[in-house]
Amino acid sequence: MNAPAPIKVRNYIDGAWRDASSGAIFESRDPWSGELVATAGASSVDDVRAAVGAARRAFDDGDWRLRPGKARAAVLLALADRLESRTEELSRLVAREMGKPVRYARERELEPAIDRIRFYAGAARLVEGVVTNAAAAHLLNLVLREPVGVCAFITPWNDPIDLPLRKIGAALAAGCTFVLKPASDAPASSMAIFELLDDLPGLPPGVANGLTGSGEAIGEALAGDPRVDKIGFTGSSEVGRRLAVIAADRFARISVEGGGKAPVVVFGDADLDKAMDAVAVGIFLYAGQSCTAGSRLLIQRDLKEPFLDGLIRRAKALRVGPPLAETTQLGPMVSERQLERVMSYVRSGTEEGAVLRLGGDRLAGERAPYMAPTIFDDVTPSMRIAREEIFGPVLSVMTFETEDQALAMANDTAYGLGSAVWTQNVNRAIRMAKGLRVGDVWVNTHYIRLAESPFGGVKASGIGRELGLEGLDEYFESKRVCFDTSPTFHLR
Ligand code: NAP
Repeated sequence: MNAPAPIKVRNYIDGAWRDASSGAIFESRDPWSGELVATAGASSVDDVRAAVGAARRAFDDGDWRLRPGKARAAVLLALADRLESRTEELSRLVAREMGKPVRYARERELEPAIDRIRFYAGAARLVEGVVTNAAAAHLLNLVLREPVGVCAFITPWNDPIDLPLRKIGAALAAGCTFVLKPASDAPASSMAIFELLDDLPGLPPGVANGLTGSGEAIGEALAGDPRVDKIGFTGSSEVGRRLAVIAADRFARISVEGGGKAPVVVFGDADLDKAMDAVAVGIFLYAGQSCTAGSRLLIQRDLKEPFLDGLIRRAKALRVGPPLAETTQLGPMVSERQLERVMSYVRSGTEEGAVLRLGGDRLAGERAPYMAPTIFDDVTPSMRIAREEIFGPVLSVMTFETEDQALAMANDTAYGLGSAVWTQNVNRAIRMAKGLRVGDVWVNTHYIRLAESPFGGVKASGIGRELGLEGLDEYFESKRVCFDTSPTFHLR
């Protein structure tokens, strides 16, 4: 079958499609075939200014923020319907552009994204302030919830549709306007969102704006524009930290969904077959390119050998294939650059004395950047492969003797995003869940996420939450209003 014609990705500003003002473009290529998937504009700071200006005008001068919740809900429902009608096409686009197996793109990215938009449509109708009954009888004390304003979103390539849409859904539900700058490794997938938003009944021009271009060239200009009230970032903790410094300069609101180094703690009383299935998926899904990949396996010492045998069997059974094949479980990495980054960690692990039990190189016979599922044994907590986010299919295995030791090892990390605990002892599960310093704990499972529940991290994994009503809270400011009904003035 012939490859589809390359997509020409254009910026979407103030309700119109525009080329980047410089005229310069960059390419997005299918990591599996090397084919050109899209060209996108290399936007400049001028384009950023135009996009933020449009979002600012739409917020300040338009009525979007003033509309009743049901009007914003109707827009979100229409957006979800449009997304649903293009699920198949967009799943294939994601698979082609960043190498994620198409089944996972459909079932784990597009379908949840539709559900999340519908969740935020409902939430838009449930925004409530507070009346404080504790005030003196002559006072009426209210807390109003007002949209935070213009949002700047910067997002990564690993869920190029869902990650922007989580932010967009909450922002639109709250009455905010926004500018999105998506990752340069998957611009066509992310910018397809604006095809859905274009001419969406009820959505005024300027509320939704998107532009492509390198993070280094325009990301800081976008975050640093004084007309931006809130920055919503998903990506590496390193870039998140730089943006937080920029935000601090003017006290702009910021949420950061950063990196992770999820511990997966397996106790001897776990259902081991189920645990082996989930631990394998937990690290090898999307070739490990997930912020909640279970990349540190902490296992009770006497269990290690049989568990690793089972894990290695499962890793070897993964169906490697092209991203567009329905049966594929392991696709290529997003790029040669990402594979090389992963390989540098493999070299570091070997140099520091960890023992390779599986993989450790690119997959033999594959032209595309496929990384072999890799398991390092005898890892010690100080090694780089135990401490740093690899963002590839590399599992670091460490052992423990006691529950206390397991918890201390699990928490011995700069990150605090995902985690998993495997035990059938409910008291132990509760103790571990309470003791882990993370945003997400899975007990006897991995990768389950709900639109209704907040997601985010602590420590270097970020600040703020997405999804759930807590995710919506990020898009509001509270304004206290106090009425005094008394005929005379009191200072109480
Ligand atoms: P990244 O390098 O931090 O890039 C993320 C976004 O930031 C991209 O749009 C990038 O643009 C932009 N960017 C890069 N340098 C910038 C700068 N100096 N100023 C402003 N923006 C800049 O991360 P990535 O490699 O795309 O994604 C992988 C990372 O994302 C991992 O650490 C992963 O754990 C994290 N992640 C976290 C979550 C979560 O929910 N916590 C979810 C998914 C991924 P360019 O693409 O143009 O460079």
